[in-house]
Amino acid sequence: MADDKRPPPVSATLHSDRRGGVEHGAIHKPIHTSVQYGYERTEDLIGVFQGTLKNSFSYARQGTPTTAALEAKLTQLEQGLGSICFSSGMAALSAVFLTLLRAGDHVVSSHFVFGNTNSLFGTLAGLGVAVDKVDAGSVDRVRDALRPQTRMVFVETIANPGTQVPDLEAIGALCRERGLLYVVDNTITSPALFQPRSVGAGLVVNSLTKTIAGHGAALGGAVTDTGEFDWQAYPNIAASYRGLDPRQWGLQQIRKKGLRDMGGTLAPEQAHRISLGAETLALRVAQTSATALALARFLEVHAAVARVHYPMLASHPQHALATKHFQAGSWLLAFELRDSSRMPAALDRLQLAIKATGLGDNRTLVIPVAPTIYWEAGPVVRAEMGIADGLVRVSVGLEAADELIADFGQALA
Ligand code: PLP
Repeated sequence: MADDKRPPPVSATLHSDRRGGVEHGAIHKPIHTSVQYGYERTEDLIGVFQGTLKNSFSYARQGTPTTAALEAKLTQLEQGLGSICFSSGMAALSAVFLTLLRAGDHVVSSHFVFGNTNSLFGTLAGLGVAVDKVDAGSVDRVRDALRPQTRMVFVETIANPGTQVPDLEAIGALCRERGLLYVVDNTITSPALFQPRSVGAGLVVNSLTKTIAGHGAALGGAVTDTGEFDWQAYPNIAASYRGLDPRQWGLQQIRKKGLRDMGGTLAPEQAHRISLGAETLALRVAQTSATALALARFLEVHAAVARVHYPMLASHPQHALATKHFQAGSWLLAFELRDSSRMPAALDRLQLAIKATGLGDNRTLVIPVAPTIYWEAGPVVRAEMGIADGLVRVSVGLEAADELIADFGQALA
């Protein structure tokens, strides 16, 4: 385990609003609902637009004091340079790809990514951006796929739903050597279990909806610039941002083009809920990871189960990579029944686990993958991604491990 790469202590998150200075001694950042922000002096209003008046706001589509407080909290958790919040994880991913890539560019992505990210790659192809997908468990495959037009390498820390783990550190070294932007989706691990900055990622994406917010009651996403990437080596930065400190180029382009122009803004009410969820992030992931490991071990030796996918099991193909980088295995696991025709009836017998899509809730959620979230993708894509017909995804919640194991035990009996 990478002890030296742990996130800041829980107290840093708990006290971050207060330390930023909150009116009347409030310990939470208030929910600022104002869309407009007014100034006494015309000069100050001009300063907001020209970026000379720091920590200021103009129009809520580009951010509010409430989203800014959450951004500061996320930057601290990822130990980065700065963050930008969006209305969902997909809005954050769309902003990264659409603001930083041009027609003719090329991206190398892990083959094993979230289905909607895969679908977004189809949209990029229509806009003239080619995406090659490789098994990123091997850095050689990533290296072989690089072209002169490659701008970006994209991976998820633990892939949803198959739990594949890329060779995070070797890919980071390759990107550094070739001057490529390394973008890591940290949604499943969250900064409490892994900080992509430690392997050289330039940008980190988190769907805040999942681990960070936790309670299944708010959608949100964020992009964090770790400060590891030299934006001066990136050709697609607009001339208007090149006058700034080069460390700010990426964030500025994503905020202006991705948030201001595309408008996938996180509402202040949602930012507040996510911020509350973030306070218990480290406690929740420690608990859900321990329960997920116990459930994975139970399922692995169950007579009705053919295979369990969980990175902290010794049987997982990238177990060594996972234990090297992650503090624990997270709440995501998947399993296949020996007889997939028995799967719907088995899931129907579950009493505690809820049959629903979604991830990182405090309640355990289960979903048969092939006929639901991967139905639109079709059988060819499913086969390429190793999604068997009987694959069941489990997002482990905060229920006690013995209660949950008993529930799966009676359902599979
Ligand atoms: N990235 C990963 C790895 C995900 O699993 C998801 C959603 O499941 C997303 C991004 C998208 O996040 P959101 O649902 O907040 O748009």
